[in-house]
Amino acid sequence: MSMTETELGTALRVEDLQKNYFLKGETVHALRGVTFDVSVGEYMAVMGPSGSGKSTLLNLLGCLDRPTSGAYFLGPQNVAELNDDQLSDVRATSIGFVFQSYNLIPQLTVIENIEVPLQYQGKLTPETRERCCALAEMVGLGSRLGHRPTELSGGQQQRVAIARSLVNDPYFILADEATGNLDSKTTDEILTLFERLNNEGKTIIMITHEDDVAARTKRVLRLRDGVIETDVRNR
Ligand code: ADP
Repeated sequence: MSMTETELGTALRVEDLQKNYFLKGETVHALRGVTFDVSVGEYMAVMGPSGSGKSTLLNLLGCLDRPTSGAYFLGPQNVAELNDDQLSDVRATSIGFVFQSYNLIPQLTVIENIEVPLQYQGKLTPETRERCCALAEMVGLGSRLGHRPTELSGGQQQRVAIARSLVNDPYFILADEATGNLDSKTTDEILTLFERLNNEGKTIIMITHEDDVAARTKRVLRLRDGVIETDVRNR
């Protein structure tokens, strides 16, 4: 870990995180006690074979589900203790999601898609709208604000999603196979954008099964059978 990361503090911490699923009378131990922390400014990939617990961890980190036991500290609170409404607030205000399938709203323009999280919270003002334009500019779409998703390439759609993920200045960006639908040239462009954001101090967690994607992050956390197998810093 570099000095700057330690100095900037902790973006999130999970402690002895366990998740069981109950299926036809059987208990599936999807996560069996996972502990790690992520400092502000880190760029971490989560890897592991199919069934190792990646999606389960993604759902917990993204506040889409609650752990069976353990703690998850995000900012000042242990979000493992929140109810459904509180969890959905945390999702909407504190985490920046980037999905494999972009998840843009087809009827809305580029700028309207970026504004969605603010619209949802009733926080769309001239100032915040200005900020959305700046984010569009930052991801290279300043000249396409009025386009609709169908008029954009996959890479451009993912840029919109990345701009949208930053609107609330989240604790971290949670990217789920973010380049999984893209050709290798576009994958490279999106990874370059993530690197730039990370260099500017954004904290990024990327779930991926691709070695070359993980190789471009700074830390690789590998799961196996619901536990951390390795946790290695790349550079
Ligand atoms: P990965 O994303 O690494 O493939 P998952 O987190 O999806 O792993 O799954 C971890 C384990 O939990 C697997 O054994 C899987 O079958 C099981 N599992 C995942 N989701 C559920 C569920 N909703 N109900 C029952 N078992 C589940």
